[in-house]
Amino acid sequence: MSVSQLRVAMLSAHSCPVGKLGTKDTGGMSVYIRELARELGKQGHLVDVYTRVHDPKDRQTYELGQNARLIHLRAGEDEEIHKLAVYSHLPDFVCNLERFRKHNNLQYDLIFSHYWLSALAGAYLQQWWHVPHITMFHTLGAVKNAIKEGAYLAPGEAEPELRIETERGLVQKCHHIIAPTEREKEELIRHYGASSEKISVVPCGVNLEQFKALDKTQARQYLSFGNDKIILFVGRIDPLKGIDKLIKALPYLRNIQGLRLVVIGGGEHSQREIEQLRKLACDLKIQNSVNFLGLVKHAQLPYFYSAADACVVPSYYESFGLVTLESLACGTPVVATDVGNHKNVIRQGETGYVVIDNTPRHLADKIALLLSRPSTDTKSAQLIRATVSKFSWSNVAEAIVRDCQLVLANYLAPVS
Ligand code: UDP
Repeated sequence: MSVSQLRVAMLSAHSCPVGKLGTKDTGGMSVYIRELARELGKQGHLVDVYTRVHDPKDRQTYELGQNARLIHLRAGEDEEIHKLAVYSHLPDFVCNLERFRKHNNLQYDLIFSHYWLSALAGAYLQQWWHVPHITMFHTLGAVKNAIKEGAYLAPGEAEPELRIETERGLVQKCHHIIAPTEREKEELIRHYGASSEKISVVPCGVNLEQFKALDKTQARQYLSFGNDKIILFVGRIDPLKGIDKLIKALPYLRNIQGLRLVVIGGGEHSQREIEQLRKLACDLKIQNSVNFLGLVKHAQLPYFYSAADACVVPSYYESFGLVTLESLACGTPVVATDVGNHKNVIRQGETGYVVIDNTPRHLADKIALLLSRPSTDTKSAQLIRATVSKFSWSNVAEAIVRDCQLVLANYLAPVS
């Protein structure tokens, strides 16, 4: 079966696609769902994104864009809860979704779920609706734990066995998996025994209309950055992001005049982590060179990327790494660890550097190399931006639609 206008039920149970980006559980996946839903809608498909009510003020239905809606369903208390706690509310989520669907007389051609919790919800719905279920894990529990046990010794909580066993079962149950990188495809095969034919690799995207190379001098004036050398970090304040390693890299860069690290991300649930990072900066006597700005709206970020001399992504683990794409789209070079899609996005020595790990010395050496170059002018910013021009959301949506059509063509509904 091939359908020219797809009707997609997208599931994002634990994290709201219009939630505050940069807070504990709201980051790249929310951007992905929001942008993809909008782009699919623009291309004429119908998308309903389902998430749980996180706040009593949430409206039930919210327009994301043309043909794309966000629908809030009650599952547990109407407030933010720890993502693991969402697990026990999934039956309510699924039942409320089915009630909403029936009440509004909706039919879907397929389910596209995001993260293991939603994939579990999708596994119920695929049986009720007799439609194919495509999933995207965004991160894998087994990989997170392997990183902790391995050479990196990443801090933070271990992923529960429940997640790992559920993910292992889901790779068998769902009909197709989208992986954002070849690396994640290999990890799905290695850790969970996923079949290679079931997985397609579709990289994530960046909104090239929004993330543009702005005039650096004007961006600096707008942000009152002065003439300092600015290193930028953008992301959730999570131990997996390796921000402590970046702070520890700064003492190696003491000879660079007016060097400043600007850290963006946080929110009320990240105060403890931010305090620890502040203390680290104090212990290293570099507290005056590190600024924690808290959350910055996505729409404002192009000013920060354009004003910075370098963006650093020192993560222990990324499924893809949207911040790197955003920075390059704004013409600012990136130093990043060899995780996610960094090796395919960064041109070594041209648009930045991929370092083998986040050892402070490794980060510092490459940051120093970038800062020793003449400051990025408009022409060089445009050259950096051009290297990521293929990562548009329209290209992502087209690739996803091709996959959906193939999955639909091969789908055999169970005999009832
Ligand atoms: N982000 C934001 N404001 C902030 C911090 C982060 O808009 O204060 C956005 C950032 O621009 C990016 C996303 O959050 O689009 C983070 O995605 P990424 O893939 O880098 O990391 P993840 O959250 O998936 O670990």
